[in-house]
Amino acid sequence: MALPTQKRSKSRKKVKQYKNRLKSKILSICPQCKKPLLSHHACPNCGKYSNREIFQPRADKKKRKEEIKKAKEK
Ligand SMILES: [Zn+2]
Repeated sequence: MALPTQKRSKSRKKVKQYKNRLKSKILSICPQCKKPLLSHHACPNCGKYSNREIFQPRADKKKRKEEIKKAKEK
């Protein structure tokens, strides 16, 4: 079985990992809201995938907290 001729140092390994992380992900554009999104994923902004609604996009955190407070008061 083939073996590496030299040990790869921790530093070299980490430099390579860092460079791999820098490579940008391939993005496409949402046809509904024109925002960048990962291909084959539902849009996180409008919650749609191929003109079908997959999920309701989350409102702002402050709005959600207010809604929860109102619901508890009732
Ligand atoms: Zn969208």
